[in-house]
Amino acid sequence: MVRRVAVVGAGVSGLAATKCCLEEGLEPTCFEQSEDVGGLWRYTDQAEEGRASIYRTVFTNSCKEMMCYPDFPFPDDHPNYMHNARLQHYICKYAEHFDLLRHVRFKTLVTKVKKRPDFSVTGQWEVVTQRDGKEETAVFDAVMVCSGHHVYPNLPLADFPGIQKFKGCYFHSREYKEPEKFRGKKVLVIGLGNSGCDIAVELSAVASQVYLSSRSGSWVMSRVWDNGYPWDMLVITRFRTWLGNTLPRALSDWLYVRGMNRSFKHENFGLMPLNRTSRKEPVFNDDLPSRIACGVVVMKPNVKEFRETSVLFQDGTVQDDVDAVVFATGYSYTYPFMEDDSIIKSRDNQVTLYKGILPPQLEKPTMAVIGLVQSLGPIIPTADLQCRWAVKVFQGRGGKPKAVPLFLSSLPRRYGNSTTLQTDYITYMDELASAIGVKPSVLKLLLTDPRLALEVIFGPCSPYQFRLMGPGKWSGARKAILTQWDRTLQ
Ligand code: FAD
Repeated sequence: MVRRVAVVGAGVSGLAATKCCLEEGLEPTCFEQSEDVGGLWRYTDQAEEGRASIYRTVFTNSCKEMMCYPDFPFPDDHPNYMHNARLQHYICKYAEHFDLLRHVRFKTLVTKVKKRPDFSVTGQWEVVTQRDGKEETAVFDAVMVCSGHHVYPNLPLADFPGIQKFKGCYFHSREYKEPEKFRGKKVLVIGLGNSGCDIAVELSAVASQVYLSSRSGSWVMSRVWDNGYPWDMLVITRFRTWLGNTLPRALSDWLYVRGMNRSFKHENFGLMPLNRTSRKEPVFNDDLPSRIACGVVVMKPNVKEFRETSVLFQDGTVQDDVDAVVFATGYSYTYPFMEDDSIIKSRDNQVTLYKGILPPQLEKPTMAVIGLVQSLGPIIPTADLQCRWAVKVFQGRGGKPKAVPLFLSSLPRRYGNSTTLQTDYITYMDELASAIGVKPSVLKLLLTDPRLALEVIFGPCSPYQFRLMGPGKWSGARKAILTQWDRTLQ
């Protein structure tokens, strides 16, 4: 029987895991190598070993009504999109409110997680930790891995011939903190993800010129959507998901491309994704199109070769006198504390997990990887529901894990092969919620509470929906759903 659970990391996922364990009467011990909660959202001037590192101006891409813990809305007066410091404050308040801090062991690094010799019978793990140079070993009935996946930089220098000759400076975006030292310089940013776009836009205010190089383009969305409402409150709805899954593929693709091009034609800005209909996570940036229009950011194709002071691009153009290169080339998934890292397979960023959570080949389902799935939806409610599902599975409920390597049973084919971790937000959330009996019953709501039902169907699929009914329901969920637009306007 599972009783003692080790939680690795006290970011938003680790705190959700700790709370869900407590809700189910389990005994969590959350190990956090740094001195506070928050993980990625706790900004520091220097990147810390083993912890995600963000730049000073990171704001959320998900709005407050979509990104909160489902039983802990943001205060009314918070802006819809938040600076990292505000989100960090909220995370601390959450930990305090649910009295989670006494379960967290700070400055404690998990150095090893390995199966006990009798694992096939007990499902137990040995967890080795280090604090102040002292090593400790303890036995746990289950482990929840919440160590984050924006930690270990992917720096593919081998793909960039001549980089050794290049005399300017180059570094991974993880090292980037603020723009000032690039004043008056020519900077090349490689990678059209969220970090690459943010950094290029920020640098363009001080640098003499910024080039942004992209191999395959990307859809660029604005936080501010129709009539100025938050994009996610209009786009992430049950009705739209149903429509997207029901319409013929060609029509759904056409509508998707049309929607993405609504405010500017990506083709004209050199941003057009190679695979236009792929639902790969778009980039959120309100300023990039205008920075390109003003010529302070210039879009470039892939780099063909670096020379001493210049860069040759695939289209044959050369940029001279480049001073610095920022590789915004993403991160690799690594779990250095796993004695056998094939348990959470991490090869070419390919991870095989049942429901995106459980390593499928374990004899006993007593390990969960939280927060690794990426969808066009916010991480906090996703992590919360993943933890609720995982804790039920630890206790032999929540559906029997299949002994087959299956990533997500509902993974829509339109995400393609290269994006194994991507999924539809609502489809995925509903799948987990159904398994543990917390999916909102639209039919029941239509019969008993039509006003709420309409908001659940046509309104934003906000996190509160998953605490509306069933085990773990929150009495404030109905009110939170019916007042979510008020808080947004405020
Ligand atoms: P982390 O926040 O990375 O926390 C992991 C914790 O584990 C850290 O505190 C670390 O110190 C600890 N840890 C790691 N290894 C060990 C160990 N061996 N022993 C002990 N402790 C350990 N998502 C959204 O939903 N909306 C957004 O707007 C959004 N914006 C983002 C912007 C940026 C720039 C980035 C990089 C990501 C963004 N994300 C966003 C995704 C982001 O990953 C999540 O918001 C979230 O922070 C992930 O939380 P986590 O708890 O899973 O991991």
